[in-house]
Amino acid sequence: MVSDAIRNAMVQRVARQGVQDQLVLGALNTVPRHGFIEPALSAQAYIDASLPIGHHQTISQPYIVARMIEVMRNGGQLSKVLEIGTGCGYQAAVLARVARDVYSIERIRPLHELAKSNLRQLRIPNLRLHYGDGMLGLPQAAPFDGIILAAAGLEVPQALLEQLTIGGRLVAPVGERNQYLELIVRTGKSEWTRETLESCHFVPLRA
Ligand code: SAH
Repeated sequence: MVSDAIRNAMVQRVARQGVQDQLVLGALNTVPRHGFIEPALSAQAYIDASLPIGHHQTISQPYIVARMIEVMRNGGQLSKVLEIGTGCGYQAAVLARVARDVYSIERIRPLHELAKSNLRQLRIPNLRLHYGDGMLGLPQAAPFDGIILAAAGLEVPQALLEQLTIGGRLVAPVGERNQYLELIVRTGKSEWTRETLESCHFVPLRA
């Protein structure tokens, strides 16, 4: 199919930008991104850009989706992962291909519903969508060995740090105008290390 070749070209571009994790690149290659974008924009589905999905929100750029998952995974096995900010559900679908169980939370009801309908036809059994405030995390499913935020706050909510396993890794955009990806690793019961990675651009995290 035409979209397979175009998607493959997108994955090659993401790899050229520095993503090396073959599991992540392979996952990116299997998720039909055009199914997460409104028909009027579907010709742009495989360019490496974020695109509007309504409600002043966006579908993330494929490069950053892949990069964040690569950093979170760090070559290891992911058993339980939480995503804050489902949006249209694209990243959640990619995550479900690399982690055993994926939970994703969205605070805008129509987007939560949109993600549900986008994902229905893909029939992904290991993905659960929740409607609510992701800043609180998902205590009933915690702890997680990976957490990804798809929206930028001025700091990472403490509740999320507390829901990491020891050794668990959280990747989040942090900042307002100038945003950077941050990697936080839980190294002990009340110990976390932080590392600032590359610059990025995300919609704001809101309670
Ligand atoms: N993961 C998406 C990107 C979605 S954009 C993708 O695959 O492309 C970020 C999303 O985060 C928006 O839909 C926004 O509504 C949501 N968001 C912002 N603050 C949130 C919060 N506190 N809890 C849950 N979702 C939130």
